[in-house]
Order: sequence, then structure tokens, then C-alpha cells
Amino acid sequence: MYYVQWARLATIPADRELPATGTTRPVGPQPSSTPNQEAPVKIRIDKDLCSGHGRCYVLAPSLFTDDDEGYGEVIGDGEVSSELRAEADRAVGGCPERAIVLED
Ligand code: SF4
Repeated sequence: MYYVQWARLATIPADRELPATGTTRPVGPQPSSTPNQEAPVKIRIDKDLCSGHGRCYVLAPSLFTDDDEGYGEVIGDGEVSSELRAEADRAVGGCPERAIVLED
């Protein structure tokens, strides 16, 4: 698809405006695709998916620790304060098994 779009652009002389494609870019405020960072969330580990890589407790040591076998474990009840939300997101993104779940 990118190649087709590039090839189409490559056939247009540099001094001409791009032809209308029938699509327009919306103007004005756009709905946010990111969840509300202030909303309270809980974090948990899906034990069926966790493989014990240990990235969670390295990336988010305030939220995770390791159990006796090196698998990730949520500290406390899993409540994530707004101050720790970025750390939680880092752990979610860093878990290779996608075993970390953020819940509203
Ligand atoms: S990073 Fe993911 S797979 Fe690894 S220990 Fe933590 S939850 Fe488990």
C-alpha cells in the first residue's frame, strides 16, 4: 500500500497540488484514543500467560515484585495511583507475554 501511494505521488509534477482523494482530514479537537490517565485502575497479572521474564519488576518496581520462582507478582491490591500510571503503562508495554492487565 505504501508503495502504491508513493508511486502515485511520484507521477505528480512537483509544482502541482495533490489531487483531491475524496478524503478529508477532520479539523478541531479529536477524540482521544488514550484512556484517561487520571482514572483509577487496577493492575493484575494473568498467571496463565506469565512466563517469568521479570521485566515487570524491573520496569515497574513500585508495582511488581517476584515470587519464589521468579514470576511477576503484583504488590499490594494492584491499585495504581495516578503517579504510578506511567510506570504501569511501561510494564504493560514491556511484558513480552502480554500478561499484565490494566482494569478500570
Ligand atoms: S514481564 Fe510479564 S511474563 Fe515476565 S514476569 Fe512480568 S508479568 Fe510475567
